[in-house]
Amino acid sequence: MGADGGTIPKRCELVKKKKKDEKLDKHVKNATKWRNCQLTQLPLKKPVIACRFGKLYNKEDVINAILSKTISKSAAASHIKGPKDFVELKLTDNKDFKRGDVKGDDYNDVNQTEFLCPITNVPMNGIHSFLVNWQCGCVYSEKAQQEVKSPNCHVCGGPYDATKMVILNPEPEQLELYKLKWEAEKAEKAAAKKDKAKKTAEKMEAAAGYGSASGEPSTSEAAPGPSGFNGVGKNIDLKKKLDFSKPTASGPSSSKAEKRKATSDIQSDPTKSDTYKKLFTTCEAAKNKPDGHWVTYNPLYY
Ligand SMILES: [Zn+2]
Repeated sequence: MGADGGTIPKRCELVKKKKKDEKLDKHVKNATKWRNCQLTQLPLKKPVIACRFGKLYNKEDVINAILSKTISKSAAASHIKGPKDFVELKLTDNKDFKRGDVKGDDYNDVNQTEFLCPITNVPMNGIHSFLVNWQCGCVYSEKAQQEVKSPNCHVCGGPYDATKMVILNPEPEQLELYKLKWEAEKAEKAAAKKDKAKKTAEKMEAAAGYGSASGEPSTSEAAPGPSGFNGVGKNIDLKKKLDFSKPTASGPSSSKAEKRKATSDIQSDPTKSDTYKKLFTTCEAAKNKPDGHWVTYNPLYY
């Protein structure tokens, strides 16, 4: 470190400059996130909305993008499909914030932003962490959340649920958590939808008379939907098979018997000549004819 031998160290020897750069970059990056709409990169102006991932947008721009169906092409907002995917923010205006160029002797504090925390008065500039209550849209700093212990929303006194608080412009780790949570919610909803469809199908099934013989309500059945459908299919198949087996039992086999009968009738038919009758094995001559040895017997010379 120096300084022990009487030397005076310079600032660059003691301070890691790179770290400072990183911090500044992060601050600048954060500042744009807090000032601009994530969809259009235009300055945020009320009404401002936040998505499930805590990103900020101009409501008007997002609504227009949804209506024109261009939102799905935007990487920053493709997860917003409708009003359920965002919350309108109740932001508190900062009286010290001056929009645009500063005239004369006015001092423009770059850390001042358009909005601030209504409880602690810290500006929403990316340095402080802010939360939105997804149920009412109230926005306040995490500092206020820690300082004020209240079972209700800190701003409007409405419902408060810790699981429904979304951190605005969260850190990448937190963002990943939100994404995972959203995926899980989507999967849950899809499962619920499937379940509903299954129940509807079962109800229709019961109404169509394919329900269980005991007349139990099909909704209480433990059997899953697809197998239920197979059951119906099997029943139909079985019916078809039964229907098919009937004609095969009475139809073709009986006609064969008739044919055989007709053949035997040839021998007693007075209209047929003896020569014609001898063509059939049913004639007396054929019946009395001794069979040849199985080795030498040639059916061609019968
Ligand atoms: Zn509230």
